[in-house]
Amino acid sequence: MNPTKTIAIIGGGFAGTTLARALDSRLPPDRELMLISEESYTTFNPMLPEAVGASIFPEQVVAPIRQMLSRGRFVMGRVSAIDAANKSFSCSTLAGDVSIAYEHVVLAFGNRARLDLVPGLAEHALPLKTVGDAMHIRNIVLRRVARIELESDPALRRALGHFVVIGGGFSGVEVAGELVDCLKSIRRYYPRVAADELKVTILQDQPRLLLELSERLGVAAHRSLSARGVDVRTLTRATSVDDASVTLADGSRLQTSTVICTIGTRPNALVESLGLSTARGRIIVNADLSVSGSPGVWAIGDCAQVTNARDGKQAPPTAQFAVREARCLASNLLATLAGAPTQEFGYRARGSMAAIGHMNGVADLFGIPLSGLAAWLLWRAYYLSQMPTLGRKVRIFVEWTWGMFFPTDITHLRFTRSHELADPIRSDA
Ligand SMILES: Cc1cc2nc3c(=O)[nH]c(=O)nc-3n(C[C@H](O)[C@H](O)[C@H](O)COP(=O)(O)OP(=O)(O)OC[C@H]3O[C@@H](n4cnc5c(N)ncnc54)[C@H](O)[C@@H]3O)c2cc1C
Repeated sequence: MNPTKTIAIIGGGFAGTTLARALDSRLPPDRELMLISEESYTTFNPMLPEAVGASIFPEQVVAPIRQMLSRGRFVMGRVSAIDAANKSFSCSTLAGDVSIAYEHVVLAFGNRARLDLVPGLAEHALPLKTVGDAMHIRNIVLRRVARIELESDPALRRALGHFVVIGGGFSGVEVAGELVDCLKSIRRYYPRVAADELKVTILQDQPRLLLELSERLGVAAHRSLSARGVDVRTLTRATSVDDASVTLADGSRLQTSTVICTIGTRPNALVESLGLSTARGRIIVNADLSVSGSPGVWAIGDCAQVTNARDGKQAPPTAQFAVREARCLASNLLATLAGAPTQEFGYRARGSMAAIGHMNGVADLFGIPLSGLAAWLLWRAYYLSQMPTLGRKVRIFVEWTWGMFFPTDITHLRFTRSHELADPIRSDA
């Protein structure tokens, strides 16, 4: 009897978990599905800005991977190398390093935050890419406001209350909108902090915000943020960042203690080690999502350079495309196992949306522009529908409903263990 053959998926993000769920109950009995990912959960990245702005608890933007699989096996581990010639990969796990043999392997490990685009970014800016990043930023924001209450130097108070967001794309706009609403709603709990001591600035080196959307929606987002007090600076490039300021291309400086970076991504370190053909750090795949010259290797999501057969363009690194690529690959893998022909990837994008603060959004749906509450509700309905289990959907729905009627939660959770209780409280973290 032949041993069970493994279909391995590396990466438990949008692409990997969608593929795993699509294959879970459909693989032939002699095939095993295995999903390997660094964390035990998948992160709903589009909701990270809401976690930063304390609209929802960070626990709500993640979903446990094990609960998504019934037949498939989940391994928590980090893949460090792939030996495509021998069809195996090495993985570091809680039980040490292991080598796993595969019949087919799907590369769905996304990309990483990039912090070398501006000098000082790596040392002084806060990236937003993981749920850990979101929790850290949320805590920093609450600590900064708490500290202002205790400081007497007006210049220091203003720098502590100044939050600068670098990047005017989806994440930057969403973070700026969430932050300004959060600061406004929590100020009443900090009576020694004046309204004009809290400020959010967003820096965009392009002529307008949200280049991903139509000009009309970019302008609508700009107007909405400005109306709520955000200092929106377009055609403004940050040239360096230090622990007390951001220097701009015109030589001026913004005094700030907190810089949030939402620009740039870099390839996952694994990409380089694989020696596969890449374009701008993304693995080039064939029309059916297989990798040329490496039988049994496939790639989808942010780590893959996919051509959309529908329009001949490169698929953008978005959750929407990651999910569609995963569904297409599920069919192609099943077809390959059955000896049937595969299909090319083609998808007509439904549109784009961004939540730009509490009850405020912008959306472009089949070319129809929407802004305000309607766009925000649409955004929420879409991401609720994408949540993997009913339990998760109900939890997030309850949390969102709660947030519409009750004040922002200002709990600042620190993982202080008993033996650390005597340590002094640090002012910088
Ligand atoms: C703040 C933010 C906001 C966003 N907002 C939107 C939005 O509004 N709309 C939209 O469409 N898109 C949005 N995106 C982009 C979207 O999240 C990505 O396009 C999508 O997550 C890509 O899915 P993926 O599965 O390819 O990668 P990811 O979701 O990044 O998942 C990759 C997974 O692989 C794991 N992994 C990495 N390396 C290894 C390894 N060596 N071994 C094992 N596991 C590994 C990671 O831990 C992770 O779980 C946003 C992204 C961010 C960061």
